[in-house]
Amino acid sequence: MTTLTSTDAAPAGAATPAAEALALKLAATRRRVGALESSAHRRNSFMPYTPVAGTPYVELDGQRLLMMSGYSYLGLAGDPRLAAAAARAVDTYGTGAHGVRALAGTTPLHQELEAEVARFTERESALVFSSGYAANVGTIGALCGPGDHVFVDKLDHASIVDGCQLSGATVTRFRHNDPEHLDSRLRAAPATGVRLVVVDSVYSMDGDVAPLPALREVCDAHGALLMVDEAHALGVIGATGRGIEEHYDRQVRVDVKLGTLSKGIPSMGGWVAGSPDLVYHLRYGARPFLFSAALAPAQCGAALEALRILDREPHRVAHIQSESARFRTAMTDVGMRVGDSTTAVVPLIIGTDTQAYDYATTCREEGVVGLPVVTPAVPNGLARLRIAITAAHTSEHVDTAIDAFVRAAERRAVARA
Ligand code: PMP
Repeated sequence: MTTLTSTDAAPAGAATPAAEALALKLAATRRRVGALESSAHRRNSFMPYTPVAGTPYVELDGQRLLMMSGYSYLGLAGDPRLAAAAARAVDTYGTGAHGVRALAGTTPLHQELEAEVARFTERESALVFSSGYAANVGTIGALCGPGDHVFVDKLDHASIVDGCQLSGATVTRFRHNDPEHLDSRLRAAPATGVRLVVVDSVYSMDGDVAPLPALREVCDAHGALLMVDEAHALGVIGATGRGIEEHYDRQVRVDVKLGTLSKGIPSMGGWVAGSPDLVYHLRYGARPFLFSAALAPAQCGAALEALRILDREPHRVAHIQSESARFRTAMTDVGMRVGDSTTAVVPLIIGTDTQAYDYATTCREEGVVGLPVVTPAVPNGLARLRIAITAAHTSEHVDTAIDAFVRAAERRAVARA
């Protein structure tokens, strides 16, 4: 494989302005990331973890580590039932989908998966995309364009932000989890065009939940559609893992529900669920759906099986909720800062980027993986380890992690409350 470096991009003596501009960009990335790569911190990104089957452990360079930063909330990632469902799908439909959904790419399995997503999310219709990212970009782009208005929470996921930018709509950000600020932003906006409010159900870096009933009220007062991204909520919040509406005892409904098949449901893909009219509109108007290959059959088979297991095994959801509450309490009891988390995502807020990297390195020496999230993903001084408690973690695993995080904090003299 040829690696393009800044030197390749701008051969001496042959530099055109365009080549120079490119070389500057490539060199800037080398400068920004290079120092990190040559330090011990390198071991916090792009590391090739091998899962240890049937456990929440991974292997890295021959060392066995307890993974505490994975997304497989329901603990189904290595489940043999999903592997068997994926294998059956490959046997029947092959390894690829043979094209986009509108042409040769739709199989009965895609239709079955969409029916299952609709049923599980308590909607009439659903559509699956090739990723959660594509679902956000495609949905926002199909619902809004120039002349329309999208209102996004300041901490919304990057795929929502990118969807807004690509849509060409006017984008307004409101303060995190602040319905009053949203209200003032809606009030100030022109009364023409579609108004779409987009929030995450559970915020991926903080583990807090959107104040849905208050947001619904504000949206209703201003004729705005409410869309939620349930990426970190499906299988995690609500008594049976159905997400934010169930979390708030079904007091209110959202207009557009969206999520991913790559986290609690450990496959790949994204989904949108809503009214038949909405789904019909997206099927013919969402560009990442129209112009990208259909989900591979193995992904459909595994996702379908995982959704059915989630339905039959709600104890997984209860386990995530009780163990993450226990973990949060244990960490706050020893003075660690966990922010406003009330879900499976529990940030251990450390301080500067370097302090977070150092703490993560010490945690690894203590046998646990807690992956750092640093600027610009989080504000300066609030770098953290993003911990996720999953159904694969037994109470003993959670105790092991608590002990390791506390020992590492003592060794590193992490500032505690
Ligand atoms: N929304 C949120 C809130 C996410 O955290 C993510 C993934 N990090 C996505 C959307 C994108 O999902 P996917 O990885 O399936 O593209």
